[in-house]
Amino acid sequence: MADEAFVTLATNDTYVKGALVLGSSLRKHHTTRKLCVLITPQVSGNMRKVLDKVFDDVRVVDVLDSEDSARLALMERPELGITLTKLHCWTLTEYTKCVFMDADTLVLANIDDLFKREELSAAPDPGWPDCFNSGVFVYKPSIVTYNDLLDLAKQKGSFDGGDQGLLNAFFCSWPTADIHKHLPFVYNLSSVSIYSYVPAFKAFGGNAKVVHFLGKKKPWNYTYDIKTQTVKGEAQDQFHPEFLQLWWHIYTSRILPLLTECGVVKDVAVGLKAEAVTEAVSQISIVAAAAPPPPPQISSEERRERWEQGQVDYMGADSYENIKKKLDSYLQ
Ligand code: UDP
Ligand code: MN
Repeated sequence: MADEAFVTLATNDTYVKGALVLGSSLRKHHTTRKLCVLITPQVSGNMRKVLDKVFDDVRVVDVLDSEDSARLALMERPELGITLTKLHCWTLTEYTKCVFMDADTLVLANIDDLFKREELSAAPDPGWPDCFNSGVFVYKPSIVTYNDLLDLAKQKGSFDGGDQGLLNAFFCSWPTADIHKHLPFVYNLSSVSIYSYVPAFKAFGGNAKVVHFLGKKKPWNYTYDIKTQTVKGEAQDQFHPEFLQLWWHIYTSRILPLLTECGVVKDVAVGLKAEAVTEAVSQISIVAAAAPPPPPQISSEERRERWEQGQVDYMGADSYENIKKKLDSYLQ
């Protein structure tokens, strides 16, 4: 079993936060497999020290610097940067079998049983269920497969510009060939599907094993109030506050102490005093990512359309405060 591993990827310090919470959640549920993370040179030295504490194997991959055909592929298809970095997981041939997991996933139960599955096993994508979602997949490292994937990337690119399009084109028999390669949806439960089929979520969501914070807004983009131990904006986020809450709970209780120890955040001194941690949290946010630009103004029809599609701007135009204002104005 030492030759099997969970593998994730983080190309910058922001995604490292996700990788750390993921790694920590796998440990929490007593995995017996190795934990491996692929990082790029952009990840800071201090963050690497923290990764060393959670992962068994921290690998720096630099596609641009490599001598192999990945570099050539990247020169021909510069838009595939992160995708080609993800493909590097096939080069980890010291492992006989791996489970790749996006850095924005969170484990809720032991999932070592995934290693009984064969390449390529994955769960359906909620947007197009004839495609698998590439946030969680079982695979077998192999240089031959790696090179074949790169060839396909060079020749055809990716129909969605990312790894999911490329991998679905490569493992194109997935939708029809072998039902054993279809992972149950609970191994990659995305926040979008919670909105789109609420009764199913109510019926089966309790069996969730992995949640995937798919989409633009990631857990680390929210603000967490350490004093009340709640994610801000939680009241509006009716559908999955418990998962966000859990992510932040692991982050503050298990990861922040490590970040402090490794000098990423200023001393969280004497235990984890509220003030000190709040300061630390905001500090990491600043270090990790500049604030995203404000969203463009959209018409109310467009907003309504997005709302109906489940794309609710909880923090902005559709925030609870704004909705309440609108309701109040109708009532008056
Ligand atoms: N990723 C990364 N840096 C980036 C973007 C993505 O390391 O700037 C990695 C990370 O592991 C992430 C995965 O690629 O989880 C896929 O991207 P993401 O999860 O953002 O896509 P989504 O699942 O929302 O489609
Ligand atoms: Mn993801």
